[in-house]
Amino acid sequence: MRKKVTAVLLLFILAVFGLWWWHAGKKVPAAVSPVVPSEKLHVTASGYVAYTLLKQIGGDRLEISMLVPPGTEPHSFEPTPGSIIAVSESDLFVYVSPRVEPWVKDILRGITGVNTLEAGPCLKDQDPHVWMTPYGALDMAKRIEKALSKTDPAGKTYYSERYKQFEQEIKALHDAFGRDLADCQSRAVVHVGHLAFGNLAHTYGLEFRALTGTSHQGEHSVQKLADLVRFIRKNKVQAVFTEEMVASDLADTVAQETNVRVLPLYTVEEVSKTDFDSGVTYGDYMRRNLHNLKEGLKCRV
Ligand SMILES: [Zn+2]
Repeated sequence: MRKKVTAVLLLFILAVFGLWWWHAGKKVPAAVSPVVPSEKLHVTASGYVAYTLLKQIGGDRLEISMLVPPGTEPHSFEPTPGSIIAVSESDLFVYVSPRVEPWVKDILRGITGVNTLEAGPCLKDQDPHVWMTPYGALDMAKRIEKALSKTDPAGKTYYSERYKQFEQEIKALHDAFGRDLADCQSRAVVHVGHLAFGNLAHTYGLEFRALTGTSHQGEHSVQKLADLVRFIRKNKVQAVFTEEMVASDLADTVAQETNVRVLPLYTVEEVSKTDFDSGVTYGDYMRRNLHNLKEGLKCRV
């Protein structure tokens, strides 16, 4: 009996071995590593507003390039041939609007067959810094979510989930701005920089005074500085606000004349190298803005 079992076992082993031998001998085509397209969608952002909102909605599914480098002023940026090549090789190009980035028109003329999205369109007489209110940024995020889902249908649920998370953050941000800026000693935001905060001030009932226009090319004339100084004295303003890309000596001059504090406000469209490397988000910048507005306007919360 035992011999019979051993023989059966032996036959079984031989059969298995034979089968393996037969398979191994067959001419199986050599394994070729399949050409797997990169799983990440290649997206180019004009500047940091488009970049940070794309990251917010697209997360790990995106490989994002940014045309305006950190530390560079976005309104008067001049694209290079490399900018056009980067956009041409993208699956999607996202910019804010030609009002904010006039140079985008040159890029759009130079490319064909690339999906493009104007994420922050605005009316002719509107302040083009539409993302400077939380719900303005949410509108942009919605357009970005739709464009990403269209370009990359496999990621539709992922993008939609991330949009919903961002929507929650925006609601909380809007509530915080409304609550924290409700009762302040001063409602005048004097800004030694360009007119980027008009939408924000209007939304939360603040008065906004800026040194220059909606681009960075306004003149910093002595007359304009004198007007600001007069306004600060007359309205008992406690602080002047400035921005990273405008030389702070202008703000310092105004502050010394009037003996008030200087506090930064962030436009999001301008990002320092440090903030870019540490991945500062739209929400982070807006929370910094709220903190500094509360300080400068002496709000009671
Ligand atoms: Zn601007």
